[in-house]
Formats: sequence, structure tokens, C-alpha cells
Amino acid sequence: MRQPYNAIVIGSGVAGLYCALQFPPTMRVLVLCKGKMADTNTDLAQGGVAAVLDVTHDSYERHIEDTMIAGHRENNPAAVEVLVREGPGDVLRLMERYGVEFDRRPDGTLNATLEGGHSRRRIVHHKDSTGHEIAVRLCAAARASANITVAEDAVVYRLRRVDGGFLVYLLQGGKAEVLAAPYVVLATGGIGQVYRYTTNSPVSTGDGVRLAWELGCHISNLHYVQFHPSAFAGGEQTRQRFLISEAVRGEGAYLINCKKERFMHLYDDRLELAPRDVVAKSIILESRRQADEHFYLDIAYKGADFLKARFPMIYEKCLASGVDLTREPIPIFPCHHYLMGGIQVDLNAKTDLDRLYAAGECACTGVHGKNRLASNSLLEGLVFGRRAAEDITRRSKGETFTPPPLPAPDDVAGAPLPAGLDRAINDIMQRTCFVLPDYGAVREGLKEVDRYLNRLRSGRFALTREYVETLSLATVAHIILKELPLP
Ligand SMILES: Cc1cc2nc3c(=O)[nH]c(=O)nc-3n(C[C@H](O)[C@H](O)[C@H](O)COP(=O)(O)OP(=O)(O)OC[C@H]3O[C@@H](n4cnc5c(N)ncnc54)[C@H](O)[C@@H]3O)c2cc1C
Repeated sequence: MRQPYNAIVIGSGVAGLYCALQFPPTMRVLVLCKGKMADTNTDLAQGGVAAVLDVTHDSYERHIEDTMIAGHRENNPAAVEVLVREGPGDVLRLMERYGVEFDRRPDGTLNATLEGGHSRRRIVHHKDSTGHEIAVRLCAAARASANITVAEDAVVYRLRRVDGGFLVYLLQGGKAEVLAAPYVVLATGGIGQVYRYTTNSPVSTGDGVRLAWELGCHISNLHYVQFHPSAFAGGEQTRQRFLISEAVRGEGAYLINCKKERFMHLYDDRLELAPRDVVAKSIILESRRQADEHFYLDIAYKGADFLKARFPMIYEKCLASGVDLTREPIPIFPCHHYLMGGIQVDLNAKTDLDRLYAAGECACTGVHGKNRLASNSLLEGLVFGRRAAEDITRRSKGETFTPPPLPAPDDVAGAPLPAGLDRAINDIMQRTCFVLPDYGAVREGLKEVDRYLNRLRSGRFALTREYVETLSLATVAHIILKELPLP
């Protein structure tokens, strides 16, 4: 990795890559990712991107209001304004500059769809694999940019402040290395692996949150976690759950219980189109009422032709697990999906530590409040990833960064990590913080997590990706449990 860089971006999802691509060609940017470039939550996103692109049938004010209602009005209104008013420009740029294709009607206009919590059809999408389409195009654009270097399998495990910038400690190919840069952008994604079941990619271990927390940055509302109401619950039960997109309810699917009866009218007037947190809680309450955890989404009545064309990926995935959604209801149950809180940043994605930025799911701009409106998160990654790059570019003018003498890389040798620490943390989080928290179990859960955290810190374990990720999981669990009110 040829030094020096004007900025190091940690993460190759929508926030990291879009950020890297907004720097001028004169600035050298290094993008680090701990797996392959497309191992991201971005690549898994299905439903689409929310943006007001048709002002005759929609308005910024409506999108703002929908976002605030979903967020229980705990959103940062200034950040929501920025998201909604600037977002359409970034969505257009995705299409025009990077070649992202969204579905269109026969007359060529964008075929926007509806999702829970939206009052208008404003979700642009690429069939049911929008994230993959965006990831492929942004990866190609980054690879083609002479000023951007991408390093795969590079696990950042520590950041240290130095005069005028940061030292970035990473593992690559089993060896430790140290780099320096005047600006660092954390775009490390979510925390899904902290929970027993999640829709998230295996990269989502909260590393960026830990790195920022260890530097003393303010972390906001890490317990504002979204549980998606409809993760696939059929076939083989694996840890990473396949998501049945919000758009399936948006296109008219009914939620039914173990008796094959609709039940949302008992919990919310918006029925199946209520925001995610409401639907997820309703399912848990209904499961208690029925003493049964079998729930389904039924959309078969829409007909096989429509469903195969609109949800080709979901159709194939369900079929591979023995469920034909054109003929039968899809088994679903809530599971962890998204982090609304995170590293506190301002409207330029800057943390409270000078020269350190954070964008995308690891950051907390406050746009989502207590609950994210569907399809606002890819949009957040775009808008605030760009703003980070613009702010750094502005600040870099006329600056020179002389990298300090780099310290010797860390010794990676040490004891092997005992098996099962990550699962033990998952079990604590499932017990205490799943959809409806059990506040009575928080105190004991925190004690247990802290025991694991101390063991991880003091155990002289080998410096591996597994160790780094387990340390992040334990740290994230600690911060979440510390935030929860004790009874
Ligand atoms: C199944 C699913 C469906 C979704 N559907 C939608 C949707 O339809 N619309 C929507 O708006 N949102 C959706 N979301 C949410 C959205 O996809 C994510 O919030 C968003 O893509 C996050 O982007 P990001 O760039 O912040 O992180 P990610 O895309 O997760 O990227 C994280 C990056 O950080 C890197 N990284 C992490 N730790 C380290 C480290 N220590 N060292 C080096 N690199 C590191 C990873 O390697 C990766 O490159 C969905 C999410 C999931 C899981």
C-alpha cells in the first residue's frame, strides 16, 4: 500500500465507496475492507432507495414527515432535511455517473414502489436486489479511479491519534501493518453479529463503533436497534437470516398468524404497512397471545407472473428452501436488522474528534430517530458519505501532512481464542434485548459481558480477525447494555 494518502476510508459499502468516489482526482484515497470488496450489507439490500424524484405526486415535506413519524420524532430535524433534500441529487448521480439501473415502466419513467411507513411510491429499486446493483457499479467505478486504491482482506484493529492525523493499525495476510493519514473515515457498517439471528453480513461486527469508542468519541443510542419483522423462518435455520423485503408487504402481502388469520388490526390501524418496529412488536405480542411463533406473509394471491417478475431473487431463495411463494405463505419471524444509533457525527459526518469522520450504518446523524424508515439507509450512506468527502476536501486545501515515523508493527503471536465467546455474547443479547427488552435481565447480562470483555483484553490472545471481531462484539454489547435503564 503506497503511502502517503490524503484520506483512509475504512469500509467498501455504499457509504465508503461513494465517499471515496467524491474526492477530486488530485487526492489519494485508500479504501480498506476486511473481506472482499462486495462483502457488505450494501450488497444484501433488496428493497431500494427512498427519494423524492417526482415532485408532482410527492414532496420533500411528505418524505420528511414520514421519516419523522417512523422515527418517533426523535430524529435530528436538520439531518432529515439534508437527507431528503440532497438525496435525490445523489440518486440521480448514481444513475448518471455510475450507471446504476433502477426499474422503469414501459414508458421509460422510474417505477418507484411503496414500502411500510411511506405515504407515497418513492422507492426506486433494481428488482429485489437494489444493493447488489449499487455495489457492483460503485466497486467498478472505484477500481477504475486512478486516485483510489482498494485493499481487501485488511482488518483495521486500532486507530491512534498523532499530530495532524491518525495511525491506522491493520492485519493483512496474517501480518500487522501501520499506515498514517491526515483524515480517516469510518464506514464500517452495522453490528448485526452481536445478535443471535440477523439479516446482516458477517462483516457487521461493530468494529468502527469500537475503534471510535476507544478513542473517546461520543457513541449515541447504540440500543436503537431495528428488528425486521419478516426474516425468512423456513428451511434450515442458519444464523444469517434471509430477508423478505419490506416491499413484499408494500405490494400487498398479508401477515398471518399460526391460525392463518390476519391480526395487525389488533395492534395498529396502518395494518401491514405500519413501520417496522410496530410490526415486529405486534408479531411478538401476537406470538405471546397465541403461545406460538409461527407467522407468515401471504402474497400468493398476486399471481405467479407478477411475483416472479417483481421478486425474482426472493422467489428463488424461498424455492430453494422448499417454499413456493406463488402458491403458499412464506414463514417469517422478526430478527436483528439495522442500527439507528452509532458514532455521533455532525451534518458533515465529522465525529467529535478532529479529522475523524463516520458515515453509513456505523454513524449516528440522527436521521432515523428511534426507528429507521424503510429504504432511508442507502440514502443516508450516499448523502453523508459525500458530505464527508466534501468537508475533507475543503479542509485539505493548502494543508501538508508529514507522516510521523511509523512504529514497528505489533507482534501477532498469542494464545488461540477459546471457541464460543461470540455465541455466549449473542445469547446474552437475545435474552436481554430482543424486540421487547427484558430490563430485569440487563444487570446480570452486563456483568457477564464485562467478564468476557476483561478476558479478551487481558488474555494475550493471538491478533487475528476473529479476535478483533469478538472484541468488537463484546464492546458493542457492553455499550448497549450500559445504555439501557436498570429496573
Ligand atoms: C438484508 C438487508 C436488506 C437491506 N435492504 C435495504 C434496502 O432495501 N434499502 C436500504 O436503504 N437499506 C437496506 N438495508 C440496510 C443497508 O443495506 C445498510 O444499512 C447499508 O448498506 C450500510 O452501508 P455501509 O456502507 O454503512 O456498510 P456496509 O455496506 O455493511 O459495509 C461495511 C464495510 O466496512 C468494512 N469493515 C468493517 N469493519 C472493518 C474493519 N475492522 N477493517 C476494515 N474494514 C472493515 C467491511 O469489510 C465492509 O466493506 C438492508 C440491509 C440488509 C442486511
